[in-house]
Amino acid sequence: MSSHLILPAGAALLLMAMLTSCDPGDRAAGAAGGDSVLPDPHSFARPQEARVRHVSLDLTPDFASHQLSGTASLTIERAAGADSVILDVRDLAIRRVTTPGGEQLAFALGEGDSIRGQPLVIRLPERADTVVIEYQTSPSAAAVQWLSPLQTLGKRQPFLFTQGQAILTRTWVPTQDSPGIRQTYDAVIHVPAGLRAVMSAELVDPDGETAGGLTAYRFRLDQPVPPYLFALAVGDLAFREIGPRSGVWAEPALVDSAAREFGEVEQMIAAAERLYGPYRWGRYDLLVLPPSFPFGGMENPRLTFATPTVLAGDRSLVSLVAHELAHSWSGNLVTNATWDDFWINEGFTVYLEGRIMEELRGKDYADMLRQLGRQSLLATFQELGGPQSPDTRLHLDLAGRDPDLGMNDVAYEKGAAFLQTIEAAVGRERLDIFLRGYFDRHAFQPMDSERLLQELNQHLFAGDEQLESRVRPREWVFEPGLPDNAPPERAAAFEKVDRQVAAFREGARPGDLQTRGWSTHEWLHFLRALPDTLDHDRLQALDQTFGFSETGNSEILFQWLRSAIRNHYEPAFPALERFLTSQGRRKFVAPLYQDLAATDWGRDLARRIYARARPGYHSVTAATVDRFLQPQPGG
Ligand SMILES: [Zn+2]
Repeated sequence: MSSHLILPAGAALLLMAMLTSCDPGDRAAGAAGGDSVLPDPHSFARPQEARVRHVSLDLTPDFASHQLSGTASLTIERAAGADSVILDVRDLAIRRVTTPGGEQLAFALGEGDSIRGQPLVIRLPERADTVVIEYQTSPSAAAVQWLSPLQTLGKRQPFLFTQGQAILTRTWVPTQDSPGIRQTYDAVIHVPAGLRAVMSAELVDPDGETAGGLTAYRFRLDQPVPPYLFALAVGDLAFREIGPRSGVWAEPALVDSAAREFGEVEQMIAAAERLYGPYRWGRYDLLVLPPSFPFGGMENPRLTFATPTVLAGDRSLVSLVAHELAHSWSGNLVTNATWDDFWINEGFTVYLEGRIMEELRGKDYADMLRQLGRQSLLATFQELGGPQSPDTRLHLDLAGRDPDLGMNDVAYEKGAAFLQTIEAAVGRERLDIFLRGYFDRHAFQPMDSERLLQELNQHLFAGDEQLESRVRPREWVFEPGLPDNAPPERAAAFEKVDRQVAAFREGARPGDLQTRGWSTHEWLHFLRALPDTLDHDRLQALDQTFGFSETGNSEILFQWLRSAIRNHYEPAFPALERFLTSQGRRKFVAPLYQDLAATDWGRDLARRIYARARPGYHSVTAATVDRFLQPQPGG
């Protein structure tokens, strides 16, 4: 038990007793109502005793103090005899807890840890099922990034956005923050003039309601979602319609180019619906965030949050949109029950992404995506200590660890390779029928590895043991490495690239290579296939011919900079420093620092750039880089 007890006299002992049995390991299995039956090692909640059904937020951001303050009213459903509810919180200042009528309720913050935060135990009122929590977030809340006007494109207004996955929602909303405990939500957000709030929910009143210098925007999401999908952004935002049910929000200077870049969204939705059934979330909009957004995209329902690094100007990186859209089925509709099964969200989504892109751009294009994915997976195995490392399993054991550690290419690319293996064994048609039924049968429910294997047995293998032994599902899910029945990924389009790489290795000048008409994927394959060691003159010839250091394509620039670091090619370092200080996408930022830190000459350079760039990064990115590059004191 720690600090911060606000108790009516005499209640202290009772709450002490409630908290002493607060270990999630002692929870009984068997929750009702489509909840996960698995204990979640990253949540203090005991949903089978009392669980949150609905969250109603009333919040006001303060851009001077970097805090959100207001109330969260939670609708609780409880088992007979349950007299308290346990929530997850981290770095929240809880002011008071009352009934909707204003009657004070006893509450206490229990002992926690730096990863999970703390349990917040609230004594439930006798009859009512709603508790009102008055609270304030910390300026350093891990989910919330506050950007000064200078960190935006327009330079005139501040910006804020939240990122809940994996377990960060508890730093801005006091609730049961487990992916297995779905909740509906509504919100009213009060913002200063000139700013607009958007959320992963239906905007109830598009113009808002102005009173006392603040405009209140109201939102509502009637479909229950895991709390990591609660999301808020506030900034100087404009909107452009793209299709009948889609559009894009972005800073005014960016919104038209973003609308052009994402012009194929309706085609993508239609393709996904043909394959996997109706899109169930109403609208599908995108929000382009400032460059510090730590991910490529985040599949917040109805409103994908996207990095501006995807705006290449030629729609060459929009498979990211196909990915986030695919999460509307895999992840948001059927959700990993705990973070140990993150692959159920991401592996399925990468597979679906490939299928959607195949519908739009054809098989050659999708094959390139798949082969690049396989390359990334094999590289990730090496980074994790080789294919025998336990962290190369799909089903992970993340208890006691930050679930963020499981967010690597194993979940994404090994998960997708598992589905490719099933497709190769049963045929695409049968797999599609299975997937369509899977999303229908488990819509708005959690899914875990064991239950998924049962699903495959029941609805796909259907007693055909030979088929099952060809797929070897248990080996895929529970064993490390890549099973040897994974179909090889070979994109026909890369053969011509390989020929050019071979010519270059034999001394051909870059200007004589046949590269006309190459897409981003061909360039990525080319850069990855270059010899590990290249001298200064060869690198200079490549850069002068193809302009890699100056490219506006973030994926190509990233791959080029890795070659430059590997070969200590200093002329590219100004571009490297620019890239690291102008965006905070973890996928780009973390490997580049890691590459630098692994050299004898680059560690100090990495530290110097990081000291300057770190204040501009979201906590998700900074926490990853901190692991191998301790922040400078005061940095
Ligand atoms: Zn994803």
